[in-house]
Amino acid sequence: MAMSLPSPYVQAYRKRYLPSLTLEQIAALPDKAWAPVIVVLGAIEQHGPQLPVAVDSFLGEAWVTLALERLPAGVSCYIAPPITIGKSNEHSGYPGTLAISKKTLRRLMLAIAEQVHAWGFRSLYVLHTHGGNFAPAGYTLREIEAKWGLHTQTLSVEKSTMVVSPQEKAFGYHANEAETALLLALKPQYVRADLSVCDYAGKITDPGELRAERAPATFSWVSQDLSKSGVMGDATAGTAEKGHAWLLGDGQGVADAIAKAYHERKRLHDAAG
Ligand SMILES: [Zn+2]
Repeated sequence: MAMSLPSPYVQAYRKRYLPSLTLEQIAALPDKAWAPVIVVLGAIEQHGPQLPVAVDSFLGEAWVTLALERLPAGVSCYIAPPITIGKSNEHSGYPGTLAISKKTLRRLMLAIAEQVHAWGFRSLYVLHTHGGNFAPAGYTLREIEAKWGLHTQTLSVEKSTMVVSPQEKAFGYHANEAETALLLALKPQYVRADLSVCDYAGKITDPGELRAERAPATFSWVSQDLSKSGVMGDATAGTAEKGHAWLLGDGQGVADAIAKAYHERKRLHDAAG
């Protein structure tokens, strides 16, 4: 007897999750020259006292699932197995953080790119869920483009529906209002909302433009520099209602980005004859 699994996950992934296809199905895919393969880059790292350490990896899975459900007719893409442990050395020193080095992340991405290229795909996209992966993924994508001629792109989660206070916008870096809200909507059973705290590394009213993030001048940091709790932001402001709205907006944003890139690659492919 078949085991029943949550249907949105199965429905959204069945046709597009590469590991669920047979070798003959992959060989026969008609759109490999322009449909992108998407690798979700996640992390397993401390997210304060209230959130599970897999926040970023959970969000990657959710954004892709929501995006797949919202792809316009005629647009396709394929999903590679996610890389769920990321370059999280800035969050080391806490129980629950796992980290791979920038070199390991680069090698994993190169290994996926080499095989995806050998199968006949010509576009490889990355969907980020964790800031620490941005730098190594950026130079590795350029290396992939140079080495195999794969078209590479970074998909961003637009967060167009997300509105937070100016203070949170400037100093809500991690395990913040947004992540707490998103997880309350997505996996409330894993959230200890009673342990949420507000922990800012600075005040927007303070003078000076040297900050950890989102400022004209930024400095390199590890979590302990900015926060005792592991929270950087106001986790107490996160609610499931906000999280639901933001998740849907994020999913639509990712779907729009995939569709835009798909049409551009298809147009270039058709123009080349
Ligand atoms: Zn996170």
